[in-house]
Amino acid sequence: MINVLAKLKKSSIRASDIAAQYWCERQMELNYLYGQKITAQIKKGRQIHGDLESETNVPIVLMPKAYSDVMYKGLYTSYMALQTLQEKKKTREVQIYGAINGFKLVGKIDQLEIKDNELIVQEDKTRGNDNLPSDAQILSHKAQVMLYRKLIEDITTEKYTAKMFKESYRIPNLILTDEFKRQLETIGVEKELMKVDSMSDTFFESLRKLGKISDTLYIRYINQFTGNVIKLHKLKYSEEEMLQMLDFVLKYWNGDRKSLPVPMEEKWKCNFCAFFGKECKVWWPQKGLNV
Ligand code: SF4
Repeated sequence: MINVLAKLKKSSIRASDIAAQYWCERQMELNYLYGQKITAQIKKGRQIHGDLESETNVPIVLMPKAYSDVMYKGLYTSYMALQTLQEKKKTREVQIYGAINGFKLVGKIDQLEIKDNELIVQEDKTRGNDNLPSDAQILSHKAQVMLYRKLIEDITTEKYTAKMFKESYRIPNLILTDEFKRQLETIGVEKELMKVDSMSDTFFESLRKLGKISDTLYIRYINQFTGNVIKLHKLKYSEEEMLQMLDFVLKYWNGDRKSLPVPMEEKWKCNFCAFFGKECKVWWPQKGLNV
């Protein structure tokens, strides 16, 4: 059986990979094999996410020098984002971890908000115009936001614990560099928290206390040029639907099947794909026939 993660030179599955599988699984795979093309649209989208983050979260400037520092920075900034959530009832860019069927899962939640004592999960997507998203786009984004909700719930119900996280990422072996520790001292981090291990415990403890998670999830579509909200899509979380979705995507990661190209009725997506006619020729012979 093929080891798909090794083939794609990955150690974990990202929530965005699962979303991408619902757009075109073959394209998601090719992005790893040949490198994703960073378009102007992707750059603009990242800028908007950065702008929104600075509206709510306290900016944290840390310059990691090694993998252990990078890991710490991710945990610390997400922990601080959860502190912001308690104070301002809203926060952005929270890293989340989990495991499914032996695979490590990781993602970054765009927005968490507390309303009526419930935690609301929201995903933001930027668009190049004011057109409403297609059903195919919404399906892909729905998979992502549903997965975030599941990952938070797995932590609050202790299906996934700090201990499991620390074992799978070999956290006790990670030692911070002296220079990074000096940076942490400058920003006032307490000595006992200057270890990836203790920061992991503190971060998971904050996640565990998040309380009731709303079954209503949101996807907000934003025009990347005007910053205007095009649509706030609301959906209901269904555990059953989530498990079905995971069952489908994991067949690929388990190596039970090859990556799937889009089906014939969705071959219009190929017109927006950088691999069309090059690395992927599934629907290429029909290009002249209205692809
Ligand atoms: S060309 Fe079409 S089927 Fe092939 S990877 Fe791109 S979107 Fe998927």
